[in-house]
Amino acid sequence: MMKPNVNYAALKDSYLFAGIAKKTQAYLEENPGKRLYRMGIGDVSLPLCPAVIDALHKAVDEQAKAETFHGYMPECGAPFLREAIAKHYAERNVRLQPDEVFVSSGASDELGDILDLFDKKNAALVLEPAYPAYVDASVIAGRQIFHLPAGRENGFLPSPENLPAADLIYICSPNSPTGAVYTKAGLQAWVDHANATGAVILFDAAYEAYIEDPALPHSIFELDGAKTCAIEICSLSKTAGFTGTRLGYTVVPQALEREGMSLNAMWVRNRTTKTNGVSYLLQRGGAAVFTPEGQAQVKSQIAVYKRNAKVLTDALDDCGIWYTGGKNAPYIWLNCPNGMGSWEFFDYLLHEIRVVGTPGEGFGKCGEGFFRFSTFASPEDTVEAANRLRKLLK
Ligand code: PLP
Repeated sequence: MMKPNVNYAALKDSYLFAGIAKKTQAYLEENPGKRLYRMGIGDVSLPLCPAVIDALHKAVDEQAKAETFHGYMPECGAPFLREAIAKHYAERNVRLQPDEVFVSSGASDELGDILDLFDKKNAALVLEPAYPAYVDASVIAGRQIFHLPAGRENGFLPSPENLPAADLIYICSPNSPTGAVYTKAGLQAWVDHANATGAVILFDAAYEAYIEDPALPHSIFELDGAKTCAIEICSLSKTAGFTGTRLGYTVVPQALEREGMSLNAMWVRNRTTKTNGVSYLLQRGGAAVFTPEGQAQVKSQIAVYKRNAKVLTDALDDCGIWYTGGKNAPYIWLNCPNGMGSWEFFDYLLHEIRVVGTPGEGFGKCGEGFFRFSTFASPEDTVEAANRLRKLLK
């Protein structure tokens, strides 16, 4: 008889965002017609920028004619997009060959799929608070997981000290949920640690486009030695509003080898087996993000979310609430006031002022007592949420 993957039984009951959806749904059923101010899940509110829309339309027209029609795309990505992304890295002085860039359907898919490269016995280290998919994908794969908690004392940026022996290290910077960003020196310590121990870092750079401080690294490959110990997973979801359109990219350097095996060659083999490439239309839309016009347009969208961040952090300042993030990241991470627990604060905001955030506890035990606001809502909703927070908490 077929034996199921029993690791699913070890997953935590309710995925964080499903829990939030359930509670907000229940509230709306009890209070029909009430409007919620959603600062919870990290989904964007602005539409795709004009450069992307134009490229998508053109690509659709190409697919309508035999002379310009495209069938299957290369599994690892269209050359035009791999080259555009490599060029984008070059602008930050990171030299990549286009064949080190793999086009994907988004970061979530890659965070799960990439585990195929590693032996099941490899233990994973998750720096927490963390995006829940790291733990869940590792649980499904049956991997041992070590949790490295962070807190206010280290600015939610733990360093590689007194660590358990882990072979895979998840790092997210700018961080979801905390908005904390590693400095070059802070990240270099992790790269040096990985090179010294043979571990591989899975670096989630989904929010790199939000970094405005020129001293902070956007890519782990800005650090010396990262190409022999890191894989970088990126997404256009928050950079360019592709949450529902789906496109991302993953960098697996040629220099990354373990036991004489090239992880780049293994990933090519994996993609050519498990995918038939990302749609031509989306890759054309994605390539438009990396044109000068596309870059200017996505930057002005990000500026809208940055203004939302300022509106929310001004309100928190007025209320005397401690927070971090919101400057080089689209998330604000705050201490729940009056010693409230994070789900308790969630319920309080939902029922008192109809503002929805994300309880910190959902990102790991050390997130208890903290709360995350996303800055992706509309400016109007954000202003209203900030006013309501002031009235309730000041
Ligand atoms: N990584 C982090 C840290 C995220 O917060 C998210 C989405 O919220 C993702 C990855 C997923 O991105 P994608 O939409 O590309 O799957």
